[in-house]
Amino acid sequence: MFKRIFAILTACLLALSSAAMGEAVPAGVTGEFSASAKGMGGDVTVTIGLKDGAIVTCAAEGPNETPGIGDKALEALPAEIAATGSIAVDAVSGATVTSDAILAAAAAALESAGVDPADYQEKAEKAEEAVVTEYDCDVAIIGAGGAGMTAAITAADAGKTVVLIEGQPMVGGNSVRATGGMNAAKTPLQDANEFGESAGVEKTLASAAGSYADNETITALAATVKEQWDAYQANPEGYFDSVELMELDTMIGGKGVNDPELVKTLCENSAASIEWLDTVGAKLTSVGSFGGASVKRIHRPVNDEGKTIAVGSYIVPVLEKACTDRGVTLLTNTLAAALKTNESGAVCGVTAMAGETEITVNAKAVILATGGFGANLDMVTEYKPELAGFMTTNAPGAQGQGIAMATAVGAATVDMDQIQIHPTVEANTAALITEGLRGDGAILVNAEGKRFIDEVGTRDVVSAAEIAQPGSYSWLVVDQKMADASSVIGGYIKKGYTVTGETYEALAEAMGVDAETFAATMNAWNECVASKTDAEFGRTSFADPLDTAPYYAIKVTAGVHHTMGGLKINPAAEVLTEAGEAISGLFAAGEVTGGVHGANRLGGNAVADFVVFGRIAGASAVEYAK
Ligand code: ADP
Repeated sequence: MFKRIFAILTACLLALSSAAMGEAVPAGVTGEFSASAKGMGGDVTVTIGLKDGAIVTCAAEGPNETPGIGDKALEALPAEIAATGSIAVDAVSGATVTSDAILAAAAAALESAGVDPADYQEKAEKAEEAVVTEYDCDVAIIGAGGAGMTAAITAADAGKTVVLIEGQPMVGGNSVRATGGMNAAKTPLQDANEFGESAGVEKTLASAAGSYADNETITALAATVKEQWDAYQANPEGYFDSVELMELDTMIGGKGVNDPELVKTLCENSAASIEWLDTVGAKLTSVGSFGGASVKRIHRPVNDEGKTIAVGSYIVPVLEKACTDRGVTLLTNTLAAALKTNESGAVCGVTAMAGETEITVNAKAVILATGGFGANLDMVTEYKPELAGFMTTNAPGAQGQGIAMATAVGAATVDMDQIQIHPTVEANTAALITEGLRGDGAILVNAEGKRFIDEVGTRDVVSAAEIAQPGSYSWLVVDQKMADASSVIGGYIKKGYTVTGETYEALAEAMGVDAETFAATMNAWNECVASKTDAEFGRTSFADPLDTAPYYAIKVTAGVHHTMGGLKINPAAEVLTEAGEAISGLFAAGEVTGGVHGANRLGGNAVADFVVFGRIAGASAVEYAK
């Protein structure tokens, strides 16, 4: 039921293999012989037809094998056995349990015919690979990054058959490159830490009353947060955070341009999504500070030694395994080209190219999770010409094709010119240096050895300040104590991104900045940490002083990082037309969508976005596919 196969197995090949087998197989045995072996979900039964001892037909049944995986093997392997006359055929990748059962049952069937299976082990030369060119499923998902895999898991958990189409040879997209963590408001993990109060709340309320006094959403959120904050101060229990404060931070971070309903959806579902990740095996147990968040809200994974590790490379393999375990059919190296629509305009499938071969995926619902367009610098400069010549932190698949496919069926886009540059991109390799280090206590100094900004400000503000410095770069400075607490820093040291020195002066020399000025900057910073005030730049987030030798610095500059704009969606992840109507059968989640982050995405909100909206898109597609 799941797909059709064009097994291109020629008569000539059959003749060849029969000749090859001719001498080995015992002559005279003719008839049909069946046997069973244990597969993934129960017995797999194979029936082999012999004519004068040669295999001429083969069929297999395994009603309880995993849809989309096991049945791929049930269809492909018997066809190949019949065509080649050999049971020495390759297992279907991703369906090894079912494949092995088919081969074991085939051998047993031959035995029951009174012939020796060993006589049917000669591998036949394949003229061409068996190519599946058409799939039928409930939900087709384009893009196997964080959003696509989250949606796939959600749909598979609801019992739907899922085909996940990925243009690259491997899954992960930009998600696997996410170095920080995931923002979530009012989680048990926040409460479990005794962080104390956060001066960041007052600062955020002041910002809401100042620059955003005209923004109704921000003003209303600030009023709610003020009430919550006053109540908390009168009776402090747990750690102060709230869904509304996360909304307020996200809206202020996005300069008030965000779609408030999408922001609300993001924040309301954030804590539950941390729990959901836990259920699929991804544990984000360390809570810390991050740019633009009033309180400690970013949730990060830790390694066995308790050191924080990059979120993307931790989560993506967990999501991939969860997809495999659930029988999601993953087609890598398969680049979606267009959406299929039926006579009433509803989206009903995808056409894609696997190399030279055209693939069709027929589906009841389609989810676009193709990510952004930050790797397509032509498209970037089309919307924001001033970014010509910038480096990009993006994975190669971030080409904006999802936007083109959806607009071709009537989808609207929002905020396409909102493109984020990230201030800490390693100056030589364009590798992303995580913002978490600044939250954990790192500072930025310019070519003159001076600080120039609140390092934990939003990415746009920090990037703009950095671009304005001499040479448009800066140095991110950490000490050994920070390195001891973070395996990420260890990785940067190993990769050769750092210069180092046993004293501030020695580090300054390695950086090529004035030693006296740099030492004075470091001493002044350590005093800021001690007094928890930063009169010059207004930083409110402090960790430990940077006073444990040796010291390290990484030269960083700004690079294209996230495309906030994209397809217009509603809180149910339905893709909307310009008129605001949902396009039947089409859903979207993750960086391909616009509106969630407004004019600037907060660090930690990309992972929150792909998990929250990936789950919603999965659930909405399931509902639609009923
Ligand atoms: P998100 O998790 O926000 O969706 P990612 O960048 O992590 O973003 O994932 C998007 C994925 O979509 C990437 O793996 C990318 O290679 C893939 N992709 C982009 N365009 C296509 C396409 N036309 N066909 C198939 N996969 C695509």
